Amino acid sequence: MDTAPAQLLTQLVAGIAAGSVRVVDLTVPLEPGTPIINLPAPLANSQPFALEVISRYDDQGPAWYWNNITCGEHTGTHFDAPIHWLSGRDHPGNATHDIPVQRFIGPACVLDVTAAVQANPDFLLTRAMVEEWEAHHGRIPAGAWVLVRTDWSKRQGAADYLNVQADGPHTPGFDPQCVRFLAHDRDILGVGVETVGTDAGQAGTFEPMFPCHTFMHGANRFGLAQLTNLDRLPPTGAVVIAPPLKIVNGSGSPLRVLALVPA
Ligand code: MN
Repeated sequence: MDTAPAQLLTQLVAGIAAGSVRVVDLTVPLEPGTPIINLPAPLANSQPFALEVISRYDDQGPAWYWNNITCGEHTGTHFDAPIHWLSGRDHPGNATHDIPVQRFIGPACVLDVTAAVQANPDFLLTRAMVEEWEAHHGRIPAGAWVLVRTDWSKRQGAADYLNVQADGPHTPGFDPQCVRFLAHDRDILGVGVETVGTDAGQAGTFEPMFPCHTFMHGANRFGLAQLTNLDRLPPTGAVVIAPPLKIVNGSGSPLRVLALVPA
């Protein structure tokens, strides 16, 4: 047996233990107050997260504590599988239970657009901005997670986070041609964002509507929504681990997203 792969893993866990590889939690807390998307009638909405105690060291279970949980698949920090969207419904292996598991782990490319989003909550990342990032950091590698840092996760409270106005939500996202480029001309796992969904708040009015979902899932790629702590990642060099729950025929799931970062 080749010992090099075994040494690689030994070095990795030693690095984590020693702190030379930092583990960064990109996940928001999952609780009843966790913001969820709110679609206008007659569209249906998902349930918010809820926790119901089954027993807590009491007559219902004298030595143990456990809960029932309920929530929609797309609640809190969560994974969007290709089957989530009409454009991705016919791909083989497109649901949470049958995506090849190696596709949950990949290098992170982090694009920082914080300043632009502070000036304009409807900011859209463009293809030109991605190509400018590549000119500095190299071409987005195969199997990468493309993460857009906006610092949107620093917003406190659901109202400020969802930022709904009379004409709908105003949150940053992707220009349609940008996601078409990422989905078709780069071999990525998917994209990750800090907002409640991978598309911009106003993306229902875009052509095509909800272009990130349409192009990403149409190309059998994934989405990660409601990430946080992207400000703790370098532009390149981190590895993101993002396996959803193995829900049979699931369209997505809440998950814990971890990044391994060289210290
Ligand atoms: Mn989603």
